[in-house]
Amino acid sequence: MKVPFTDLRAMHEEVRAEIERGWSGIIDQSAFIGGRPVADFERVFAEYCGAKFCVGVGSGTDSIRVALQAVGVTHGDLVVTVAHTFIASVEGITQCGAAPVFVDVDPVSYTMDVAATERYLAGACESRGGRLVERASGRRVAALLPVHLYGQSADIDPLLALARRYGIKLVEDAAQAHGATYKGRTCGSLGDAAAFSFYPGKNLGAMGEAGAITTNDAAVADLSKVLREHGQKERYIHVTSEGSNARLDAVQAVVLNAKMPKMPEWTDMRRRAAAWYADRLAGANLVIPAEMDYATHVYHLYVVQVDDRDRVRKLLDERGIGTGLHYPVPLHLQEAYRDMKLGVGAFPVSEQVASRGLSLPMFPHITEEQVDYVASALREAVGSALAPSGAR
Ligand SMILES: *Cc1c(COP(=O)(O)O)cnc(C)c1O
Repeated sequence: MKVPFTDLRAMHEEVRAEIERGWSGIIDQSAFIGGRPVADFERVFAEYCGAKFCVGVGSGTDSIRVALQAVGVTHGDLVVTVAHTFIASVEGITQCGAAPVFVDVDPVSYTMDVAATERYLAGACESRGGRLVERASGRRVAALLPVHLYGQSADIDPLLALARRYGIKLVEDAAQAHGATYKGRTCGSLGDAAAFSFYPGKNLGAMGEAGAITTNDAAVADLSKVLREHGQKERYIHVTSEGSNARLDAVQAVVLNAKMPKMPEWTDMRRRAAAWYADRLAGANLVIPAEMDYATHVYHLYVVQVDDRDRVRKLLDERGIGTGLHYPVPLHLQEAYRDMKLGVGAFPVSEQVASRGLSLPMFPHITEEQVDYVASALREAVGSALAPSGAR
C-alpha cells in the first residue's frame, strides 16, 4: 500500500464543477482583481471565523505583515513570537520593519509558552512614557504573535490578559487553524487581528497564493484594505508609505468560495482520522498530539514525537508512507537569524520538537485502512509492534 503525506485531489473533485462555473464567469466578465467573488468570500469567511470583518490578501505572509501593520506595528518595533513555527510568521514581522523576539513553546500544545512570554515582558521590559520598551535595546514591544500550530489554538486567554496588562496588541497566526476553536470561540476572532493562509496545502487552500486578515475592529479592517492596495484610500490618493500590492484575486476567491461549504465536513474528516491514529497508536513508544481541553483541534498536521526520528522516517518511506518535518530547524538556529546570537539550548522545547517531530499522512479523505497501515508500520518502526489489545 502507498499512503501519500497529503492528497488534495479528492477535495478538488468534489468542488470542480463549482470552480469551473466560477472561473467561466470571471472570463466572461474579464475582471480578475477583487470584485464580487472576493467580496462574497470576505463576508462568508468572516462569518465562519465569528469575526466582524475579513480582508482578503495575496498570501499568508502578506496577511501577517498587513495585520501587524494594521494594529500599529511599525519600523523599529519588537514583536514576540515562537521559535517553533514556519518562517513566514517572522517574515511578516521583519517585512514591517520590526524585529522578532523568540520565546519557547509549551511541551504539550507546541504553542506559545505563556509563562515564558510573561517572563520576557515582566523581566526584560519596562514601561516608559506609557510604552512598553525592551530595556536592553530601547525598542518598543508592540505585539504578541502566537501561532495556532498544527491546527490547535494557542492558550489565548492568558496571552490576551498579558497583552492587555502591558498595553500591547495580539495578532493570531491562524495559517494552520481554519475553523479551530478556543473555549468555544473560533480562531480568527480571538485577538486584535488574525492572519490566515490559503496556500494550497492548508486546510482551506486556494489554487495558488491567497490569504486573509480577520478582525472585530473596523479601523483595523479599514487600514488593512488601504495597506493591501498601495496605501490608497481612493484611487491614486495614497495615505501611507507602508502599502504594497497584497490583493486577493477573484480567480482564487472562486476556489475558496467553492470550498467554504465543505469546510465543516472536511474538518470532521480530519478529526476522524486523528481519532483513528490515536486509537491505533495508543501505548506505542511515541508521543501523539494532545488535544487541549480548551481547544478543538483541526489537525492541519498530525505530528508525533519519536526517538531516532530520521531512522523511523526512512523505515516508513520504505513502506511507501509519505511523512513531513514541521519544522526540522527551529528559527533561532537558522542562519537567517544568526545576528540574534541565540545558540543551541536557548529554547529546549522547540529544539526537541524539531528533532523528534514527525508529521504523519493527514488529509480529509485518508481511509481507515490507510491509517491502519501507517500506524502498524510506525508501531513496528518504534518497536511497539503489537497494539495493547493484541487485536491489530
Ligand atoms: C503557511 C504559513 C504561513 C504563510 O502562509 P503563505 O500563504 O505560505 O505565505 C504563515 N504562518 C504559518 C504558521 C504557516 O503555516
